Amino acid sequence: MGIVLIWCLAVILIRWITSKRRGAISYDSSDQTALYIRMLGDVRVRSRAGFETERRGSHPYIDFRIFHSNSEIEVSVSARNVRRLLSFQRYLRSSRFFRGITAPNSSNILDDDYNGQAKCMLEKVGNWNFDIFLFDRLTNGNSLVSLTFHLFNLHGLIEHFQLDTMKLRRFLVMVQEDYHSQNPYHNAVHAADVTQAMHCYLKEPKLSKSLTPWDVLLSLIAAATHDLDHPGVNQPFLIKTNHYLATLYKNTSVLENHHWRSAVGLLRESGLFAHMSLENRQLMESQIGDLILATDISQQNEYLSMFRSHLDRGDLCLENANHRHFILQMALKCADICNPCRTWELSKQWSEKVTEEFFHQGDIEKKYHLGVSPLCDRQTETIANIQIGFMTYLVEPLFGEWARFSNTRLSQTMLGHLGLNKASWKGVQREQCGSGDDADPAFEEMDSDILPQEPRLS
Ligand SMILES: [Zn+2]
Repeated sequence: MGIVLIWCLAVILIRWITSKRRGAISYDSSDQTALYIRMLGDVRVRSRAGFETERRGSHPYIDFRIFHSNSEIEVSVSARNVRRLLSFQRYLRSSRFFRGITAPNSSNILDDDYNGQAKCMLEKVGNWNFDIFLFDRLTNGNSLVSLTFHLFNLHGLIEHFQLDTMKLRRFLVMVQEDYHSQNPYHNAVHAADVTQAMHCYLKEPKLSKSLTPWDVLLSLIAAATHDLDHPGVNQPFLIKTNHYLATLYKNTSVLENHHWRSAVGLLRESGLFAHMSLENRQLMESQIGDLILATDISQQNEYLSMFRSHLDRGDLCLENANHRHFILQMALKCADICNPCRTWELSKQWSEKVTEEFFHQGDIEKKYHLGVSPLCDRQTETIANIQIGFMTYLVEPLFGEWARFSNTRLSQTMLGHLGLNKASWKGVQREQCGSGDDADPAFEEMDSDILPQEPRLS
């Protein structure tokens, strides 16, 4: 039996090595460095009811293997062991969390204290000043699971939809784990932050009085999964490296399509809604898709002009399911780019994280002569310039219209923070270069695949 097993493993290994994996990209550089960029894209697309989902854990990682010498191989191997250990710890932590078990030792006193503080924070989950970074530390990196589970409960969704809480928890653990914790920005904490913001918008009077439990359910799932399995690089990077996802989605909303399909894959795998009719499940999957696809920033002009037209005509009627759905798309778009509307302390941290991710992509592009994408060059860009451009061309126009739709204290608070944060970045910009108040021209020069040209606030 042992020999058969070894033979089977050997065959599998040889097949794996010799198979041309989808999305594999190799570069040979002139300095004899065997550079191997591999998008670990062992995706097995399943087809069911005419709809394709992405296999859980398809993980479009950008994995760099550089083999210079034996010593580097050793470093690479030991780094891999550390990663293996870390993922094992992550597995342990999440499976214990999933089973509701805490380690029976004296450090529990500390855990209990943290749990108590996390519970305390959840009492103010609808507060715009909610500190998601602190909440993530208090929950030992489980902010997305804890927060979303709490919101399902708070909105009465568990009861209304007769949800199995074990399945719900399992689903949320899978969602959280399919975010890449090594991404500085596009990780589970960002997803938790967007979900918290979405909750704040759902509570706004205009929405709360007309939303159905179905709307709330879809909104929270879409918010929690909207960047699922994000590889930490943008669409142009995937296109220029011929990533299989770019081919699969024909270079259009590549990431958003992947997030959506990944979310659907997890929904089906968890069986969370297995008790619902097939028709309702299919409707849910497609509506979650509409919400997630709306977060494609390159489509912002289209959504914004539609929003403006409705507001100008004053014809939005939230009794109409289509109109409600459109407003939820706008709400999710706001939640996704609301970082500049948070307090300076929170907003600044997000700015640093997103820039780190951009610059990391730029470093890769430089190293492998891929052409550095706009906003990704650490030599020529600064956080302040990027943020001022982002606020001017994307955030201000969107939140300006949102405040027209929902002119509440929250909207005014968000616009207030936005103005203050922009002024703070302008102060930083002046200190750094002693010059003016220019927004980053990259936002104006970008082609529509990256970010659209946004009309200025009129
Ligand atoms: Zn996002």
